Amino acid sequence: MEHIKKYISEIKDYPKEGIVFKDINPIYKQPKLWNQLMLPLEKLISEAKPNYIAGIESRGFISASALAFKLELGFIPIRKPNKLPGKVIGVNYKLEYGEDRLEIQQNLIERNSKVIILDDLLATGGTANAAGNLIKEAGANLIGYAFLVELTALEGRNKLDSNLLIESLIKY
Ligand code: AMP
Repeated sequence: MEHIKKYISEIKDYPKEGIVFKDINPIYKQPKLWNQLMLPLEKLISEAKPNYIAGIESRGFISASALAFKLELGFIPIRKPNKLPGKVIGVNYKLEYGEDRLEIQQNLIERNSKVIILDDLLATGGTANAAGNLIKEAGANLIGYAFLVELTALEGRNKLDSNLLIESLIKY
């Protein structure tokens, strides 16, 4: 996966000073490259056999929905506040650059169904941890987390349940 790094551009001080933003949009516009990146995730998710892939708004939606469609699994959107209709469950959490909140629809997932969370990037782990808590609060069985990119120096995976599957494809 190292050879894919050259397609990930870095934008300094976005969205805040001090953050080096990893922009993976150049990969999505090249289908062969995107497919190469997705293949190990397809294998991993097929073997883990979840019922649903939960994607985190908004950049997580891109690969999570593509994989869910390809693997014929259900897709669950985990969204920013006030975007989902009806009753929701929400959690607040700290981000590498600020504070945020994630929500999920209350009765969308059947109890004990197996869910894997997918996001584009693991930084401090706050977002993925909050998403995991939401899935558990919704009564589902969280089986793991997958990321396209991991910023290892931020030790985000230490915030996640180490008994679960934690996979990232490109590590910095
Ligand atoms: P964190 O909660 O700190 O693990 O942040 C992860 C979330 O924030 C992901 O949904 C990413 O899309 C976004 N994010 C955080 N840091 C970066 C970064 N340096 N480059 C790109 N996206 C980032």
